[in-house]
Amino acid sequence: MIRYAKPTTVDEALALLGEASWRILAGGTDFYPAQGAKPFRENVLDINGLATLRDIAETEDHWVIGARTTWTDLVRHPLPAAFDALKQAAREVGSVQIQNVASIAGNLCNASPAADGVPALLILDAEVELRSAAMARHLPLKKFILGNRRTELQ
Ligand SMILES: Cc1cc2nc3c(=O)[nH]c(=O)nc-3n(C[C@H](O)[C@H](O)[C@H](O)COP(=O)(O)OP(=O)(O)OC[C@H]3O[C@@H](n4cnc5c(N)ncnc54)[C@H](O)[C@@H]3O)c2cc1C
Repeated sequence: MIRYAKPTTVDEALALLGEASWRILAGGTDFYPAQGAKPFRENVLDINGLATLRDIAETEDHWVIGARTTWTDLVRHPLPAAFDALKQAAREVGSVQIQNVASIAGNLCNASPAADGVPALLILDAEVELRSAAMARHLPLKKFILGNRRTELQ
């Protein structure tokens, strides 16, 4: 039987990820075109209930952009000038309707060679945080994306 879950906390999401194999659904703008009309054969973990993942915050030495942050969130957030290329890329993604729902992490995890977010994040020396219930791992973006549609995600 195929499962669908929409957790409301990151801990709940990580616990689910630890107990089965899931496909993650964020804005769905890559997910649904890839699915097409095929029947669903994998569990779907919908992360749209995780409000804490939709956030941009400044720490002592980093800016942290939550995985579910949309391109529109990025464009509207006051950020230092170094982020102008990322904002410019955000405005290039699809159309305003796409930018309103699509996430920055979806762009990276999809690992398309045409992903507009990647060059702008590479020049910022961005890192990704990979989390499981057991641990958190930080990787430079250039080590996270392994090639066309291939990432370090496990
Ligand atoms: C009409 C159209 C035009 C587009 N134009 C552009 C464009 O100009 N430039 C561009 O770069 N992209 C474009 N895209 C692609 C897409 O909109 C972006 O890549 C977008 O950022 C994907 O985000 P999403 O939240 O919709 O991801 P989803 O579709 O929900 O997910 C994409 C992939 O990432 C995985 N995933 C998502 N979030 C996570 C997470 N937190 N952890 C682990 N895995 C995760 C999903 O399982 C899936 O495999 C376009 C898409 C459409 C439909």
